[in-house]
Amino acid sequence: MIRLEHKGDCCGCSACAQLCPTHAITMEEDNEGFLYPRVDVARCVDCGLCQRVCPVINPYAPREPLAQYAAKHRDDAVRQSSSSGGVFTPLAESVIADGGVVFGAKFDTTWSVVHAYAESTEELAILRGSKYVQSSMGDSYISAKRFLEDGRKVLFSGTPCQIAALKHALGRDYDNLLTVDIACHGVPSPRVWRDYLSSKRLKMHAADITALSFRDKRDGWRNYNVKICFAPAGGAEHAAEVCTVTPYRRDLFMRGFLKNIYLRPSCYRCAAKCGRSGADLTIADYWGVERYHAPLDDDRGVSLILVNTPRGEALLRGVVSQVECVATEYDNALRHNPCIKHSVSEPPLRAKFWAEYERVQLKAVEQILNELHPRGIRRMLSRIRYVVDKIVKRR
Ligand SMILES: Cc1cc2nc3c(=O)[nH]c(=O)nc-3n(C[C@H](O)[C@H](O)[C@H](O)COP(=O)(O)OP(=O)(O)OC[C@H]3O[C@@H](n4cnc5c(N)ncnc54)[C@H](O)[C@@H]3O)c2cc1C
Ligand code: SF4
Ligand code: SF4
Ligand code: SF4
Repeated sequence: MIRLEHKGDCCGCSACAQLCPTHAITMEEDNEGFLYPRVDVARCVDCGLCQRVCPVINPYAPREPLAQYAAKHRDDAVRQSSSSGGVFTPLAESVIADGGVVFGAKFDTTWSVVHAYAESTEELAILRGSKYVQSSMGDSYISAKRFLEDGRKVLFSGTPCQIAALKHALGRDYDNLLTVDIACHGVPSPRVWRDYLSSKRLKMHAADITALSFRDKRDGWRNYNVKICFAPAGGAEHAAEVCTVTPYRRDLFMRGFLKNIYLRPSCYRCAAKCGRSGADLTIADYWGVERYHAPLDDDRGVSLILVNTPRGEALLRGVVSQVECVATEYDNALRHNPCIKHSVSEPPLRAKFWAEYERVQLKAVEQILNELHPRGIRRMLSRIRYVVDKIVKRR
């Protein structure tokens, strides 16, 4: 049975819990809000399946892509509502048009992130867009297997560790399975996410949140905003919703996330990136695209697509009428997006952050950010970033 020596040995994929034949495993939250398996020893029959399906215990070998492209959807409206160049949408639509099913991450009614599936283009909208929180997998591997056995095409999208887990959970390849992973910086704490949303609601005197985007592009793809819309409190039926739009560099949750303060421990030693997920395609932001394919860049989003398998190549070929694709160099793409290959380092202040979090909750984020970058240095960095952005835009 699964015995975790270190929290970093579990990416929270839930393959063990979904596959356990005696339902001896439940996924339970730790103090950081991340899910880990808990085994009910009385129900365990020691079959060893949980260990065999674990993508951390059984990592795949690293792989280089067969080809890579800078790409963007030809319809600006699709790009505007997508995080990068909007390539996920046509890939998913092509599978749905063939009577297939698409799995991906959505917000649930409490604005937690969960995996779900879509069977129509209308349902696809909720899977669109990056949600920078770890998605809870529910029974999605089992459910995908059911669709596959029924002969339906399945496109399963997710983080590299979720794709690796799916492959282990399925136990064999299916001709009708297509997998797409996203480049993954790491996933931030669901507990911090919940507290952040509560504090926002409190500040806005709002009853509830009505819409949320991590990648609002009104100020461009690079200078994206976090947009949150609130329903007025007190049942004021006719009052209009109010939205806050915060540049990601000023948003508390995004700042802590991008400084790696509260990522899942496994994200500092990821066993699934660098082609180890086994995904057919990998999609990412093509940061640095202005240096290599300037004509493509209009600051509305350009995707990087890594083609990892012939099946991925066929899937991409099927959507080229909707996606402008230009071949690119892997090394150029990696230069500006190291997370595709390498895990980020665990900040030495992470343990201190969680100790402080128990005491002062969200205030700990600001506190640790200040320790990482004292105010004077922050101002200087922000000035440098402003000048660099200006220069890049002028090109
Ligand atoms: C936690 C996280 C970290 C990321 N880190 C990087 C990075 O370091 N570098 C980089 O280039 N890109 C990163 N991305 C990916 C990037 O933000 C875009 O999602 C990706 O380029 C696809 O964009 P798109 O325009 O094609 O489609 P979109 O419509 O914007 O993306 C939708 C796709 O993202 C998936 N998705 C969204 N949220 C989650 C989630 N929480 N868990 C699993 N799958 C999710 C959906 O299932 C769907 O497949 C990250 C995304 C997430 C969620
Ligand atoms: S060893 Fe078998 S029965 Fe025991 S927890 Fe693992 S999968 Fe379940
Ligand atoms: S990585 Fe996945 S399969 Fe392995 S112990 Fe964690 S939840 Fe279970
Ligand atoms: S960094 Fe690795 S372990 Fe963390 S969520 Fe991404 S793929 Fe999973």
